[in-house]
Amino acid sequence: MSPFGRLLSTAREALYGRGIPRLKSTGDAPIIPIEPPQRVRFPIGGLVAVVAPGQTVEAGALIARTPEASRFQRRIHASLSGTVTALDAGEIVLEGEVPERPPVTHSEPDWILPEAIADTAREAGLIGMGGGMFPTYVKLSRVAPIDIVLVNGCESEPYLTCDQRVLEEHRDEVDCGTVLAMHAVEAGRGLIIDRETYYPGGYERLLISDVLGRVVPPRGLPRDVGVLVMNVQSARALHDAVCLGRPLIDRVVTVAGGGVGRPGNYRVPIGTEVGHLLEVCRVDLSKTAAILTGGPMMGESASPETPVTGGTGGLLALTAAERSQSLPQPCIRCGHCMEACPFDLPAAYLAESPHKAVLGCVECGACQFNCPARIPLVSRLRKAKAVVTAWD
Ligand code: SF4
Ligand code: SF4
Repeated sequence: MSPFGRLLSTAREALYGRGIPRLKSTGDAPIIPIEPPQRVRFPIGGLVAVVAPGQTVEAGALIARTPEASRFQRRIHASLSGTVTALDAGEIVLEGEVPERPPVTHSEPDWILPEAIADTAREAGLIGMGGGMFPTYVKLSRVAPIDIVLVNGCESEPYLTCDQRVLEEHRDEVDCGTVLAMHAVEAGRGLIIDRETYYPGGYERLLISDVLGRVVPPRGLPRDVGVLVMNVQSARALHDAVCLGRPLIDRVVTVAGGGVGRPGNYRVPIGTEVGHLLEVCRVDLSKTAAILTGGPMMGESASPETPVTGGTGGLLALTAAERSQSLPQPCIRCGHCMEACPFDLPAAYLAESPHKAVLGCVECGACQFNCPARIPLVSRLRKAKAVVTAWD
C-alpha cells in the first residue's frame, strides 16, 4: 500500500437498536458469476448511441455517451461481445457471449495525477453503485475542499449482502479505490464503514452525522461539510478502471427472497434482464408476490424485461408474507414520526402535503425508524422538498 494507504482505516462496529428486520440470509454466500445471458439491454435516454444496428462490438467497447455539451457526462459500455440487434432512441440491445472476467490481480499505480483519476472514472462510465447512480467523476472533481472519504459498506437495506461480500472477497481493490478517491480530491483521511446497521442507518447524511458529527445542511451535499461518500462497489470499480483499464460492465447483485430457489450473490453483466436472473436463480413465480430490483425499502417493481443497471444491488422475489413484513403499510396516524423528529416536524403530513416547513427536514431518518407502518418517509420527504424548492 502506498503512503496514502496508511491514512486509510476501517470503522467496524455493530449498531443495534430499533429498526426493520435485516434478513441477511445470503451474507455467507460467496460471489459467483451468473450463467451468462445471451442478450443484454441498455436504456439510453438522453445519451447518443455510437454504434449502429448490425455492428459487432467487443465487451468493454463504448456504445453510448452523453453529448459533449451535457452538464453531467455518462458513458455506457458493452457487457458482452456480439452484435447490436436493436437500437432506437431509448434502448440498445446486444446479443452475443459474455467473456470470462480474468482473475483480478490487485495492482496499484505508482503515481497518477488527481485529475487523471476523475477523467478515467468519467470515461469508464462509473456511477454511484449504492443506487444513486450519480456520475463518480463529478464527486472526484475538486469542486470543494474534501478532507475525508467515507466508503459506505453499511448496506442497511434488508436482504442485500452484495457490498458485504465485495468487502470480504475484494478488500484490496476496495482499499485501493478508496485511496485513489482520496488522492483525486486530495483528502487526508479515508474511512471504510462496514458496521451492521438497521435501515436507514446507511443513509449518507445519517452516516456522516453518526461517524463524523457533521451535519449536511438541508439543501446541501456531503461535500459542503468536506466529505466524499462512495459505495463499496463504486470504490472497487474505481480500482478496476484506473488500475486495470476496465470500464463498468458488471456488478455484484444479491438475489434473495422466499421465492428464490438459488439465492446468493452473483456477478452480473450490466444490461442482463431480470427474466434471465429469475430463470437461472430458479425463482418460483407461484410463491412470489413481488419482484423488486434493489432492496425492499427503496427498490422498485421489476418486469422480466427490466435490465440490471450499475445501481441494481438486489433482485428480490418476495413471498406474500415477506412482502407484508417489509413493504410499507398504510399510515395509521399514530404520531410516532413526529415524536421522533428532532425538529418536531409532522413527517406523515409533510410527506403527503408538501409545505415550506419540509425544508427544515435534515433527512435524518428518525421518523422512518420509528414508523410502525414502515413507510419510507425519508424518500417521500425528499420528494416533497424538491416540490417545495421548485416553488421558489
Ligand atoms: S427525516 Fe423525519 S425525523 Fe428527520 S428531520 Fe426529517 S421529518 Fe424529522
Ligand atoms: S409513524 Fe408512520 S404510521 Fe405513524 S403517523 Fe407517522 S407515518 Fe403514519
